[in-house]
Amino acid sequence: ISRRLERFKTTIFTEMSILAVKHQAINLGQGFPNFDGPDFIKEAAIEAIKQGNNQYARGFGIPQLNAAIAERFYKDTGLLVDPEREVTVTSGCTEAIAASMIGLVNPGDEVILFAPFYDSYLATLSMVDATIKTVTLRPPDFAVPEKELREAFSSKTRAIMVNTPHNPTGKVFSLQELQLIASLCKQHDSLAFTDEVYHRLTFGAEHISLASLDGMYERTVTLNSLGKTFSLTGWKIGWAVAPPNLTWGVRQAHAFLTFATATPFQWAAVSALKAPDSFYKDLIADYSSKKDILVEGLKEVGFKVFEPKGTYFVMADHTPFGFASDVEFCKFLIEEVGVAAIPPSVFYTDPDDGKHLVRFAFCKDEDTLRQAVDRMKVKL
Ligand code: GLN
Repeated sequence: ISRRLERFKTTIFTEMSILAVKHQAINLGQGFPNFDGPDFIKEAAIEAIKQGNNQYARGFGIPQLNAAIAERFYKDTGLLVDPEREVTVTSGCTEAIAASMIGLVNPGDEVILFAPFYDSYLATLSMVDATIKTVTLRPPDFAVPEKELREAFSSKTRAIMVNTPHNPTGKVFSLQELQLIASLCKQHDSLAFTDEVYHRLTFGAEHISLASLDGMYERTVTLNSLGKTFSLTGWKIGWAVAPPNLTWGVRQAHAFLTFATATPFQWAAVSALKAPDSFYKDLIADYSSKKDILVEGLKEVGFKVFEPKGTYFVMADHTPFGFASDVEFCKFLIEEVGVAAIPPSVFYTDPDDGKHLVRFAFCKDEDTLRQAVDRMKVKL
């Protein structure tokens, strides 16, 4: 294995999902719904296949999808973008992240990450030999520490990665926090990459796209996908929205990474993005009750719970149960209790920062969530 990647293990999501199957545990680890997205989108994919849309798509996206993404982006952010020059369709947001890093970051450039961070950011930045600076978000509210963020920026800062709503903490970045990030990006002439895949999953907090702040569109690559909003994580349809000069880098990387993305799913994505507003309202109502079942359940079990404002994850403190680390706690949970969760220490540069925490996913049907809580009540 290359030196770039030798320090990374199997992703924690894969590892925990394999263990969950082995121990027949209820899987609240890897974040994928145990239910499917809406029938009208599935039908659209089947129809697209039947109609013969099965060869390579245009590399940066079928024109209809680029247009649908631009339209959605306008509704969500008020920003008018050119679908032909500013939108790139990728194989999931993970590829959009990789294409942005590879296409826009040079070896030795500094990139700022907020810890805990989604694992692919660090691995992808290692592939481009970037220098990582981390700023740690700490419980209970995972607020951005202003002084540390200011200190992390320098004349070498090429970019900052912002994930809001934030996996794994469930934090939604506030307007003030985004304004601080924006002012530092402008002051240091840095780019921003924003992973907004959970943008539709907020509970009483407002999601704000960094690109919509004054002077930020021109320096921001906004990344999103179909998977979380439409419960279709296996379709791997993602995208990057950025001004033409930044899109150039993203598209060059994308062209040589995957070239194009599954054609029939792109057609189905066009239908998905035209979903009526009521779809999004129902989605939030549904996820709010799932969240409440898990959050209240975890509290009853005895966890200290950090209630999420967004995403379909919840972080909790497992110290009341007396385990030395998150890895040990998760091992016990999966083997003895029959519930899989994610040990978050892998999302920090200093694993100690996360060793008292555990992440649970609530993108599961309500019965499954209740069963998981019941198992924990009995065995913890
Ligand atoms: N985004 C999902 C999560 O955080 C995992 C995706 C993956 O397995 N790579 O659980």
